[in-house]
Amino acid sequence: MSFFEIDGKTAALAEKALEKCRGVFAQIDRTTEYNQQKVLSAFINNGVTESMFAASSGYGYGDRGRETLDRVVAEAFGAEDALMRSSFASGTATLTTALFALLRPGDTMLSVTGTPYDTIRPVIGITGEGDIGSLRDFGINYREVQLTSEGKPDFPSIKKAIAEYKPKMVYIQRSRGYTLRPSLTAKQVGDICDFVHELCGAYVMVDNCYGEFVCREEPAQLGADIIAGSLIKNPGGGIARSGGYIAGKHALVEQCAYRMTAPGVGREVGATLGMTRELFLGFFSSPHVVGEALKTAVFASSLFEEAGFAVTPTPLEERGDIIQTILLENEKRLIGFCQGLQKGSPVDSFAVPEPWDMPGYDSKVIMAAGAFTLGSSIELSADAPLREPYAVWMQGGLNFHSAKVGIMLALQNIE
Ligand SMILES: *Cc1c(COP(=O)(O)O)cnc(C)c1O
Repeated sequence: MSFFEIDGKTAALAEKALEKCRGVFAQIDRTTEYNQQKVLSAFINNGVTESMFAASSGYGYGDRGRETLDRVVAEAFGAEDALMRSSFASGTATLTTALFALLRPGDTMLSVTGTPYDTIRPVIGITGEGDIGSLRDFGINYREVQLTSEGKPDFPSIKKAIAEYKPKMVYIQRSRGYTLRPSLTAKQVGDICDFVHELCGAYVMVDNCYGEFVCREEPAQLGADIIAGSLIKNPGGGIARSGGYIAGKHALVEQCAYRMTAPGVGREVGATLGMTRELFLGFFSSPHVVGEALKTAVFASSLFEEAGFAVTPTPLEERGDIIQTILLENEKRLIGFCQGLQKGSPVDSFAVPEPWDMPGYDSKVIMAAGAFTLGSSIELSADAPLREPYAVWMQGGLNFHSAKVGIMLALQNIE
């Protein structure tokens, strides 16, 4: 390791930490191989060809690349149908499209994994700050069921809530977001879908952010009616510079298409402006890149555990997403961690992250991100609100060999 000044103590801990996760790394490789070959076969079965990468303009009628990409994504996710577009402004915008497509005034949305991710709260209209244009503004009701104290779905309470509120949609967030709850594996999401479908006719929608290609299955093939996520996370493979996807039952995906553009035209329009090649390439790379991000998370978990910190998930625990939480116990270490991680980034390594008052947070937040795409969190990145429990949430890593440096510099920088 002659390119970086890693001290002897950190290097020795890293050696030991890596030894401890050999078995998990081998398991990650097997999942990666399975998912990578699944995606390759979807490309082959749908006859992807170079001419599909050509840019369309204006209305974008008859864009073969756009139409084929939708079929490739659907097949890889085990879904009847899918939409993948660079024109979705973010993961939140994609999820919002699906929510407004499927819910009508008077309907109830029931979240069964507690309060959703921060940016979805104004969409629902539960921040108490007006939330102009929210579901609530349109007369759509919202209820939630908390997870159990171990962070598992609370099936008896879900059953009660379904009987009482008669929801049109049951909503599941797979990833932990900025909480300490465990993420859900695809199988656990599937179990909730089966449970709900036995009880009622509600659609099950899954916020699949950070979960794509972590397991061998995706929620859409295990019973979810609609799933959605962001292309600057897992399924963009670190290559897509913007966008999102929606996948699931054909009739529901069609409804989403009418909301995405306009009733009547739906998915038949949408100029790709030359973005198709990077969406194909990013989706093709995604299973491999997710494997690298998982190794990065497992290594970080192992290294910081060796160094004496509490981590969640622990190195050998089963994972449902690419996020790693490390409890650093005080403000000084959170800052040290983020500044150390930044030093090991390929872009903006010279920048020194500082805590700032982020809109929507009740405490200062510090972030490390040295990414090729602004805000991309499939690239090595970390966030930490400067408050109890003084934890940092880190994720991504386009390749383990590079991300490993960032993790070691982060540890070295807090001591
Ligand atoms: C990232 C994320 C979103 C969407 O976020 P964007 O920043 O808008 O892309 C939604 N839910 C979860 C759980 C997420 O991790």
